[in-house]
Amino acid sequence: MVVVKTIKEVRDTVKQWRKEGLTVGFVPTMGYLHEGHQSLIRAAGENDRVVVSIFLNPMQFGPTEDLATYPKDIERDKQKCLEAGADLIFAPEVSEMYEDNFQSYVDMNLLTEELCGLTRPCHFRGVCTVVTKLFNIVKPDKAYFGKKDAQQLAVIKRMVADLNMDIEIVGCPIIREEDGLAKSSRNTYLNADERKAALVLSKAVKKAEELTENGVRNSAEIISAMTSIVEAEPLAKIDYIKIVSLDTMQQISSTEGGALIAMAVYIGKTRLIDNFFYEGE
Ligand code: AMP
Repeated sequence: MVVVKTIKEVRDTVKQWRKEGLTVGFVPTMGYLHEGHQSLIRAAGENDRVVVSIFLNPMQFGPTEDLATYPKDIERDKQKCLEAGADLIFAPEVSEMYEDNFQSYVDMNLLTEELCGLTRPCHFRGVCTVVTKLFNIVKPDKAYFGKKDAQQLAVIKRMVADLNMDIEIVGCPIIREEDGLAKSSRNTYLNADERKAALVLSKAVKKAEELTENGVRNSAEIISAMTSIVEAEPLAKIDYIKIVSLDTMQQISSTEGGALIAMAVYIGKTRLIDNFFYEGE
């Protein structure tokens, strides 16, 4: 496995692989990797070569968000990538990705307006811009994203279709801790009490799954049951619990035919997300 910091090194390596007729899978990350990231790297192993990017992208953080405190450990990340079968890590400095005179952006309308887009107004512009840049640098056949960031996955799929990017986007299942908490680099922010309190997210998601299995389709009823679970926990504060259309990310009153049931909750100062995709019958 090779670790490089420059765009030129990625391009030279991938060009060589292409000459040899090899296919390339790509996993973009912000680092501090866990089994969720590793599951994407393993899924990308269906290609001949796997590239992982580790880049804490300042553009997708708002001014009051956790860019400065986001956990970092490149040596640990290298080990996790190696274990999962990556061939190349691209870990650029901010200056390599954004020249001083940088001024071009990729943005989206409807899909980014609800859910995390409401609380984090510039977030998806930062995500779309950096993912486009990374796609242009790596030029993969397939790219792998977690369903944990459900809105991000929908946004990337839309962007690739709208802008005719010749890349297949693969969505991968949410990887959880044994007690149900969705794995996240941000879980490291939680103290012992908060870690326990954070279980309200997966409990609420589980409740939504149960209700759905029992034939409940009314969004208000599902949201109300989830809200009760979260509100019973004093350390938790709801950012949103919403049920939206899989195509538009706009709120819908019934899950009939499929829906994304998504939530963001502050546990202390840490904002965590979780969700459940109901595919419909
Ligand atoms: P991040 O480093 O948080 O930007 O995440 C990089 C990729 O890993 C994104 O596609 C995430 O959706 C995915 N990811 C993060 N956590 C999980 C998880 N618990 N299960 C599956 N995928 C995940």
